Amino acid sequence: MTDKNTGETETMERIQNASIDALRCIQCGVCSGSCPSGRHTTLNIRKLVKIAGKNTDILNNKELWMCTTCYNCQERCPRDIGIVDILLDIRAISVQNGNIHPEHRIVCEMLLEYGHAVPINEHTRANRVNIGLEELPETVHKYEDGLEEVKSLLASCGFRKLIEQNES
Ligand code: SF4
Ligand code: SF4
Repeated sequence: MTDKNTGETETMERIQNASIDALRCIQCGVCSGSCPSGRHTTLNIRKLVKIAGKNTDILNNKELWMCTTCYNCQERCPRDIGIVDILLDIRAISVQNGNIHPEHRIVCEMLLEYGHAVPINEHTRANRVNIGLEELPETVHKYEDGLEEVKSLLASCGFRKLIEQNES
């Protein structure tokens, strides 16, 4: 077996392990009926649960990235299936395969550079002052030494490398 085939087999095994819970799904549709994101995007979480674990195509499915992880579906599922947990595990496998969704990559790059997924902007700074708060919150925005520590933590745990792999 070639390395490529070995890699694909391992990836498939990981997807199947992540999706075992989905085998208990009865396709009732409560999850998709509860999904706020599905009202505005093409996300059909019932279908994603149905195809989870079947093959590696799910790693290229854009709907993986349309979930806001609000957990509505998981809380209402009559079979108590860990819907969002499955989805997040499959997303992680997708990222490790260099397949992060571009918008999510931008958020990760923000975190790497500013220590915040959504850095403060001028508008928020002004609003804070207007309501009597300090211009900057008690985060790495205010403490530059802390930002360096966050950056070194993100590098040492492999997060920076993972996102850089997804850029190439
Ligand atoms: S709510 Fe649960 S059982 Fe029903 S379709 Fe969704 S995952 Fe399957
Ligand atoms: S967690 Fe995701 S899939 Fe589930 S209801 Fe919320 S947006 Fe939809």
